[in-house]
Amino acid sequence: MTSPQPSDPVSRRRTFAIISHPDAGKTTLTEKLLLFGGAIQLAGAVKAKRNAQQTRSDWMSIERERGISVVTSVMTFEYGDCVFNLLDTPGHEDFSEDTYRTLSAVDAAVMVIDAAKGIEARTRKLFEVCRLRDIPIVTFINKLDRDGRDPFSLLDEIEKTLALDTAPVTWPIGSGRSFAGTYCFETKSVRKIDADTEPMTVSGLDDPALLALLPAHEADAWLEEAMLAEEGCKKFELAAFREGHLTPVFFGSALRNFGVRDLIDAMAEYAPSPRGQDADKRHVEAKEPKMAGFVFKIQANMDPNHRDRIAFMRVCSGKLARGMKAKIVRTGKTISLNAPQFFFARDRSIADEAYAGDVVGIPNHGILRIGDTLTEGEEISFRGVPSFAPEILRRIVISDAMKAKKLREALRQLAEEGVVQLFLPNDGSGALVGVVGALQLDVLATRLEAEYGLETKYETSRFGICRWITSQDPIALKSFIESHGSSMAEDIDGAPVFMSSSEFQLRYDAERHSAIVFSDVKDYQ
Ligand code: GDP
Repeated sequence: MTSPQPSDPVSRRRTFAIISHPDAGKTTLTEKLLLFGGAIQLAGAVKAKRNAQQTRSDWMSIERERGISVVTSVMTFEYGDCVFNLLDTPGHEDFSEDTYRTLSAVDAAVMVIDAAKGIEARTRKLFEVCRLRDIPIVTFINKLDRDGRDPFSLLDEIEKTLALDTAPVTWPIGSGRSFAGTYCFETKSVRKIDADTEPMTVSGLDDPALLALLPAHEADAWLEEAMLAEEGCKKFELAAFREGHLTPVFFGSALRNFGVRDLIDAMAEYAPSPRGQDADKRHVEAKEPKMAGFVFKIQANMDPNHRDRIAFMRVCSGKLARGMKAKIVRTGKTISLNAPQFFFARDRSIADEAYAGDVVGIPNHGILRIGDTLTEGEEISFRGVPSFAPEILRRIVISDAMKAKKLREALRQLAEEGVVQLFLPNDGSGALVGVVGALQLDVLATRLEAEYGLETKYETSRFGICRWITSQDPIALKSFIESHGSSMAEDIDGAPVFMSSSEFQLRYDAERHSAIVFSDVKDYQ
C-alpha cells in the first residue's frame, strides 16, 4: 500500500493520537506501532508505565502512586519515509482536559474499537472532540482473535452513533478461534495471522486458497457476507476521509500484532501531513518559513522547590532550532529556546530541530500558559486550544480562612496551567473548580498542598453544569447576567459563565432567553 512519499520535512510528518475507550487496546497498539517504527526499546517504556516502574514523565508522586500517567506524552518514530508523532491521550481514570487539548494538536486520529464491545462512551466523547476540527479518523477494530460482534453491526454502529461513513479496507476472515487473517478488497490480497510476510494475492473472495483458511462449515456463510461487504460497503475516498466524513476501517489484533502494518501503511499514505492552522488574523500554512506554534499542555514539576514546568508546543510552521528566540504573543516577552526537548528522537538531525507537526517541550518557570502562541515576532494567536465545559463542579474550601487570598492566587496559577478550570461566582461566594475527569481534583489537591502548603477540601455545589454565554445583543447579555446574579460566575479570563443545577434546568433557561448562546466549548483567546 505504501507509495513513494515526498521527502521534505513537513510532508513526511504525521501527527496523530489514538482515541479509544479504556481496555480497547490502545497501549498494546501503541507498543506495536513503536515496534514497526524501529523504536523497540520504547515499547518497553510504554509497558513500564503500567507497572509504575519508571516513566519519562514520572515527576508527579500521584502518578507514581497510581502507576498511571497523568500527563500526555509524545512519541516520535520513523516508519518508511514518514516521521510519526504519536501524542498519547491518557486512558483510564486519568481522563482530563489534557486529553481533549491533545486532540487540538493532531492532524489525524486512530480510533480503536474492541470488536466485542463496539463504540463505548469514551470513544464517542473523544470522537466528538475530533469532529469539532473535522480530524480524519482511521478505525482499527481490535481483538478479532476473540469472539466479537458481527462486522456489519460494528460498521453500522459507527455510522449511526457517530454519523461517520465507513469504508472497510480489509475484511476479517473468520473471527475468534477461527480468525485466519484479513482480505484487502482493493488489492485482492490476504494477510494471514501469525505470518508477517507479504500478503498472498488471490483471484477474489471465492479463491479456494482463501476459503481453505476457514473451517469448512464456515466458508459458505463467510463468503456470502464478504461479498455483500465488497458490493455494498462504501469504497474508500481520500477527500471524504480528509474532510472527516468517512473512516477507512481495518480489522486486526493488536495483541497478536496483526493488522497493525496495514494500519500504519494507511496512516503513511492517507493521513494528512501537518495542516495549516487558523490564527486570529490569518491562516498559517505549515510550510511557511517562519516558526510559529501553540502551547497545548503544561506539565509541572512536582518538586515544591522548583516551579519549573514544561510547556508542550505544537510547531505549526517554520523550523524550530535549538537556541532560537521566540516571542510569546500574549505578553510580548521573548523566550530563548535554549533547551527545547525533542521527544524520543533517534538521531541528532531530528533532535536539534523541529518542523510543523512536531511537538517540543519547552522548560520555563511559569511564563508560558495553555493556548499561548509563540512566533518569530508576528502578532498572531492560534485558535487551536479550546476549553470544554467541565463535567464535575466542586466548591473548594480551605480550613484556614487566613489563607483564602493565597488559595485564590494558587488556583489562578494552576488554572493557567490547565490543571483545573476556575470559576469565580459573581455573588462573591467561594471559588468553584471544574474538571472533566475526577483525577484532576486529586491532582489539584495534591499540588495545592505540596506546592503552596494549602490544605483544602471539596464540597458539592448546587450547580452541576456550566456554560459560557455570549450574545449578539450586548444589552440582552448584560440584562441576563444581572437577572441571574447568583447563577453567574466568571472564568479565569473574565468571560461570563452561567451555572445550572441540571441539563433540564439549563434547557428551561435557554428556551426563555433565545438571544443568549449557551456554549459548552470556549476557544482560548
Ligand atoms: P488500553 O486500556 O486501551 O490501553 O488497553 P490495553 O492495550 O492495555 O489492553 C487491554 C487488555 O486487552 C489487555 O489485557 C490486553 O492484553 C488486551 N488486548 C489488547 N489487544 C488485544 C487483542 O488484539 N486481542 C486480545 N485477545 N486481547 C487484547
